[in-house]
Amino acid sequence: MRLSRSLIPTLKETPAEAQIASHRLMLRAGMVRQTAAGIYAWLPLGLRVLANIARITREEQDAAGAQELLMPTIQPAELWRESGRYEDYGKEMLRIRDRHDRELLYGPTNEEMITDLFRQSVKSYRELPQIVYHIQWKFRDEVRPRFGVMRGREFLMKDAYSFDLDHEAAVVSYRRMMLAYMRTFQRMGLKAIPMLAESGPIGGDLSHEFIILAPTGESQVFYDAAFEDIDYSGEFSQSSEADLERFFDLMTTCYGATDDKHDATAWERVAPDRRREGRGIEVGHIFHFGTKYSKPMGLTVAGADGRPVIPEMGSYGVGVSRLVGAVIEASHDEAGIIWPDSVAPFRAAILNLKLGDAACDHICEQLYADFAGQALYDDREERAGVKFADADLMGHPWQVVVGPRGAANGRVELKRRATGERQEVLAADVLRLI
Ligand code: ATP
Ligand code: MG
Repeated sequence: MRLSRSLIPTLKETPAEAQIASHRLMLRAGMVRQTAAGIYAWLPLGLRVLANIARITREEQDAAGAQELLMPTIQPAELWRESGRYEDYGKEMLRIRDRHDRELLYGPTNEEMITDLFRQSVKSYRELPQIVYHIQWKFRDEVRPRFGVMRGREFLMKDAYSFDLDHEAAVVSYRRMMLAYMRTFQRMGLKAIPMLAESGPIGGDLSHEFIILAPTGESQVFYDAAFEDIDYSGEFSQSSEADLERFFDLMTTCYGATDDKHDATAWERVAPDRRREGRGIEVGHIFHFGTKYSKPMGLTVAGADGRPVIPEMGSYGVGVSRLVGAVIEASHDEAGIIWPDSVAPFRAAILNLKLGDAACDHICEQLYADFAGQALYDDREERAGVKFADADLMGHPWQVVVGPRGAANGRVELKRRATGERQEVLAADVLRLI
């Protein structure tokens, strides 16, 4: 992308309405703009990050054996009356009437709709277990939308739903999803701590929240160092039930708690050199809730003996749009965002310090072509200082700085955003080096 013709409206000033770093930086870097309270337009730079987070989430859901589908944002109120949640959900639910006076709603979550889809289509025990998911916009009319995309009213969520024939199988699905979550967050460069949670309005009997560590997070977190050390992709296999059990035991025996659930006595039992404290942000929440929806909504399948079985269900949410803010909270400095490579909107920015200089233009154009869409080319008629500041603000993992003196000899400067390290290299070596 050429910056001179991109809708990436960076700001020099800090917007007054933004209270936290990620909100400030997302506005300043031109990633998003608010269009109504808690509702955001994703501009090209922001959308690329959102898409990367969705992609990693999707790849890990697929690897765990979940199938992607896409349910609509608008749902009939009738389904929610069947589960009894239409009244319970209260003012957070955006209720709509169409021209025929039919009651609809903008979905805050999809348990009812997926239960209905299974009820229509799945008839036999032979078709289970199944896990399905989608990545879709949700609407919750939050009392106080704040912190930018971290607590929006319209937000993007990955929500998965599992269907099993009995409790034992449902627990395996739950563990498999939990491992998928730890892998997902690790691939995004985040340290995640799973915590036993109350299951809240979704209800049920087993639930975990996933808190990622960020110095500016809302809650205080106490945890065992083990969570930081484990390689979730390398050490456990999704397809081995023994691995899943070993993983789950480790997750539930290692200490991890936020302030309100902190247990000083249990904390004392963690070896002192393994005690860690930090701050965190909730980015995911999983539930096993048994037959809470399948039973009232009449979902049954024929069992092996021909008798009807009520499937056990679970649901599994990742805050995809919240994660964009959470990654920034976990990784930024005074100058701006520092993207982990896996979610960065571009691998590199190419900074042309002297537009119109034949050698600079030539090298920049060549590099831009070689990066094949993975670089943002700063070809604006701007001072070098502005280009440096904007590249730091936008947080690209690498900056390729092309100035006239070096360019005359085919050389450029390569800067690593995370460390500030710079090296002079041949333009021809740039792609190989990064
Ligand atoms: P919270 O306690 O933060 O309101 P929740 O318990 O209501 O979260 P869930 O229903 O479990 O959230 O939704 C799954 C995930 O969706 C959450 O872990 C969070 O990452 C994300 N999420 C929930 N509400 C919002 C929101 N208003 N804006 C952005 N992301 C959200
Ligand atoms: Mg909520």
